[in-house]
Amino acid sequence: MVVKKITPVYVEFIPEIIEEGKLYVSETYQTAIHKCCCGCGEEVVTPLSPVDWQLKKNMDTISLRPSIGNWNYSCKSHYFITNNQVIWANRFTQKQIANIQKKDKLDKQNYIDSKNKQIINSLLNDDNWLSKTWKSIKSLFRS
Ligand SMILES: [Zn+2]
Repeated sequence: MVVKKITPVYVEFIPEIIEEGKLYVSETYQTAIHKCCCGCGEEVVTPLSPVDWQLKKNMDTISLRPSIGNWNYSCKSHYFITNNQVIWANRFTQKQIANIQKKDKLDKQNYIDSKNKQIINSLLNDDNWLSKTWKSIKSLFRS
């Protein structure tokens, strides 16, 4: 059965049985899961992060961005979830899929790089703080 409307279910743990027409959202584990809206029965896991999917809540409706592209499944369905509505989009060609996968990989790498840079910077700042403290301690002994 083709799903036209999907309702959010907020859970801590993803349940064993995923019902059609429901989007299970675990904010604890930053993951959402639903059954492919084409009715093929495949379970679609969408991690929620700045480089994966973003869940937008509006009253009691939800939107997922970007679109859901199930190109790893035989149905290859592609749709948007906007305000609980399933909006069907064009199927991608193999070339478009390859381009998106390439871009996704790049986005992830950039995200990891910038995170690493943040960590390194914060360590360097700590070092500064440490050396300043050390200097002030040494100056105490000098006087
Ligand atoms: Zn499907």
